[in-house]
Amino acid sequence: MAASDPFWRRKTLGAMTRAEWESLCDGCGRCCLHKLREEETEALLWTHVGCRLLDGQTGRCTDYANRKSRVPDCVKLTPAKVAAIDWLPPTCAYRLLAEGRDLPWWHPLVSGDAETVHKAGVSIRGRIVAERDAGALEDHVVAWPGRVPKAAKPIPPVRRGSDTEL
Ligand code: SF4
Repeated sequence: MAASDPFWRRKTLGAMTRAEWESLCDGCGRCCLHKLREEETEALLWTHVGCRLLDGQTGRCTDYANRKSRVPDCVKLTPAKVAAIDWLPPTCAYRLLAEGRDLPWWHPLVSGDAETVHKAGVSIRGRIVAERDAGALEDHVVAWPGRVPKAAKPIPPVRRGSDTEL
C-alpha cells in the first residue's frame, strides 16, 4: 500500500476521519428504503418505499442532521454496525470496504462525479414510492435494491491480503 493511495485503501473504516467516513456514502438511497422480515425465515425483503425523509431525486436524506429525532428507528452507521447488519445493499461503499473490496468506478470518490451513481443504475432515483402514498409495505416488495445492476458491474473483488479489519 502506497502513501499516495486514497484514504479508503490506506485506512480501516474505524480509522477514518468523520469527513472521510461521510464521503463514503455515494447517495444511492437504497438503505433508506423500508425493509421487511419474513416471519418464519427472518429473510430480508426489500420494498421500493422510501423513508419519508428520503429525496427520490437526489437519493439523499432531506434532514440528515436531525434524522434520528425525526425518524427514531433510523440507524446511524458506525464501523461496528456495518459489520453487524445484513441489510446494506451489495453496492454500498461501507459494505464493500468492510468486505475488503475497493470502491467501484461509479462511486463519486473514484469518478469525481456525483451523477455516476445514478448513471450506473445504483441509486433509487425515479424508482421509489413515497411513504405517504404506499399503503401496506407488503404490497411493494421488490428485489432490485438487493442486487447489483448490470451497468454497475463488475463489483471490485476482495483484495488479496485484505484482513477486512474494521
Ligand atoms: S446504501 Fe450505503 S452508499 Fe447507499 S445511501 Fe446508504 S449508506 Fe450511502
